[in-house]
Amino acid sequence: MNAAKRLEIFRRLHEDNPDPKTELAYSTPFELLVAVTLSAQSTDVGVNKATARLFPVANTPQTIYALGVEGLSDYIKTIGLYNSKAKNVIEACRLLIERHGGEVPQTREALEALPGVGRKTANVVLNTAFRQPTMAVDTHIFRVSNRTGIAPGKTVLEVEKKLLKFVPKDYLLDAHHWLILHGRYVCQARKPRCGSCRIEDLCEYKHKTSDD
Ligand code: SF4
Repeated sequence: MNAAKRLEIFRRLHEDNPDPKTELAYSTPFELLVAVTLSAQSTDVGVNKATARLFPVANTPQTIYALGVEGLSDYIKTIGLYNSKAKNVIEACRLLIERHGGEVPQTREALEALPGVGRKTANVVLNTAFRQPTMAVDTHIFRVSNRTGIAPGKTVLEVEKKLLKFVPKDYLLDAHHWLILHGRYVCQARKPRCGSCRIEDLCEYKHKTSDD
C-alpha cells in the first residue's frame, strides 16, 4: 500500500471519530493498568462490569493489595482466568508500592517487569494513559493491518513495527483505537462488512464481501 492511501484511510477514520477512546472504563493510569491486565481473553464489557464494583472500593495499589488474592477474586469472578489474574494484580501492586512509590511507571521496561504485563499491555498503558506513540497490536489490529495492506506482517511484532513506521505521524497516537474499533465493528473476523466499510475503495483485501 502506498503512503497516499494510508494517509487517506486515517484521514477518514479520524473524520468519523475525531477523539477515539478505549472501551475499557478507567479514570487513572493505575485503573487502566488493572483493567487491561484483567481484559486478556475477556471482553471489555465484562471487565467494565467487574471494575465498576471493584474501583469504588479499591483503586490504588495500596487498597487493592490490602484486599489480598481472595478478596480481589470476589470482585472479578465473572472474568475468565480470574484466579491467576488476581494473583498477578496483587503481586503487581506489591511491586508498584515497593519500586515505584505506588505510581504506574512510564517506561516499557518497568511495566513489562510487572507480573501479567506483556508487551501489548505495556503498549496500551503507555499510549492511552501517557500518550506515547506506541502500537498495541491485538487480534483486531493484526487482522485489519493485514487485510487492508496498511501494515502486513506474519507476527504481531512485525505488524507493530510496520505500523509505527507507516502510520502518518499526525495519526500515530490514536491509530490503535481506530484500528481496534474498525476490526471490532466493521472488519470483523469471520465476515468483514465490506459493503458498509468507509475505506473499502482503499483497502487491498482480495476477498471483500458485499455485506453491510
Ligand atoms: S473493505 Fe472489507 S476487508 Fe477491507 S477494511 Fe473494509 S471491511 Fe475490512
